[in-house]
Amino acid sequence: MNDLLNFGANQMSGLRYECRCGRNHNVDIENIMIGSGVISSLNQAVQRFAGRKIFIIEDKNTRMAAGDRVEALLEEEIEVYKYVFDDEHFIPNESSIGRIVVEIPEDTGLIVAVGSGSINDMARFISFKLHIPYIIIATAPSMDGYTSTVSPLIVDGVKTTYNAVYPNMIIADTDILKEAPMHMLHAGLGDILGKYTALADWRISSMLNGEYFCDLVEELVLETIKKCMGVALKIKDRNPEAIESIMEALVLSGLAIGMVGASRPASGEEHHLSHCWEMVFMDRGIHTKWLHGNYVGIGVGIIIEAYRYLSSLNIKKVYEKGTYRHLDRDKWINVLSDVYGKNAENVIRYKADFINFDTDIREKNMIKIMKNWDGIKHVCDGFLPDPETVRNVLKESGAVYHPKEVGIDRELFRKSFIAAKDIRKRYGVLQLLEDIGELEAAADEITDIYYSRL
Ligand SMILES: [Zn+2]
Ligand SMILES: [Zn+2]
Repeated sequence: MNDLLNFGANQMSGLRYECRCGRNHNVDIENIMIGSGVISSLNQAVQRFAGRKIFIIEDKNTRMAAGDRVEALLEEEIEVYKYVFDDEHFIPNESSIGRIVVEIPEDTGLIVAVGSGSINDMARFISFKLHIPYIIIATAPSMDGYTSTVSPLIVDGVKTTYNAVYPNMIIADTDILKEAPMHMLHAGLGDILGKYTALADWRISSMLNGEYFCDLVEELVLETIKKCMGVALKIKDRNPEAIESIMEALVLSGLAIGMVGASRPASGEEHHLSHCWEMVFMDRGIHTKWLHGNYVGIGVGIIIEAYRYLSSLNIKKVYEKGTYRHLDRDKWINVLSDVYGKNAENVIRYKADFINFDTDIREKNMIKIMKNWDGIKHVCDGFLPDPETVRNVLKESGAVYHPKEVGIDRELFRKSFIAAKDIRKRYGVLQLLEDIGELEAAADEITDIYYSRL
């Protein structure tokens, strides 16, 4: 029954697993290769596409990191075409997608994406739209989207998630991965640490809202986070085993999303914070080198503080105080407008029906939370690591851990803590704090921790 927990990512391809949670967990990927030198198997791996055209998608950086090598390996027997984006910061938008549709030969049999986040996101979407299988040659262990079936793309200037497909194959050669820029290695670590709070939010939501939950998938993800915590300090030396553990964990995290059919085990309020900051920077025209995973890593410490704040409350006193009964609509709109700028209207419209202004519903939610208080306390105290531990792992591995380091000042921090949950409808600790009328007080306390005490 628990065999799944002993599987490495390499053994997960083709998985068909009847789980005790009542669902089947499947992995529709033909081959997952992670390790030193695995790229040399590329030619053999694509043999069944021999005689068809292969189209490589890469940018000038990923071409240097692995693309030239890929081309040399493939050209031995196969007709290879390619498109190299020469943008300094490649953006997976309508223009990039259109460019590929223009360049790709009509009878292409296989797409080979060489890169990490954005190149992969775009290739996955094009593969889905054109019905051409694709494989990914990973160049950095920076995010868990390698094994995703959706694609975040920028359309009309807004980050939107589109349906896509699994890659046929993932080839992640640690000799290539370990040479990636250091902030990309740290981003991978940050995205993995984010699973702690993602899993905690998932548990809380299953408790309060009866949302589907699989404890085996939870355990699978939790084991891989712990393994990464153990090797994190070796990342700064580009230690191959540490890089392999991070990549394994990122692949497994992506597979976990596919297994449960939702990103629940991989993304919670720490991701909402990250997405919120990414939107703020985009809105204000600020370009930073920091990646999704760097922001997520910072978010984990903050969200664990939120859990800690929750745990410190005497829920009966919160009930007696009664502030949870009323949520001020104008105040809510004002904070969202301050944070999201020209995107605020979209966010308000998107979330308006999911925010509870109704006193009766708020009362019911409060009662439900009080009934489940012991379980909630257990998630706060027994499940999550100390926020200091997480911050130290990031700090000592050389990664950013404080929002100040990525350009978030005290005021934006406090407001984004309040507004972050509203870019999604997913339930987590920030929504819980709002339900009990404590979100603002938690924002004050945690702003003080980060901007006066750390
Ligand atoms: Zn299950
Ligand atoms: Zn992520």
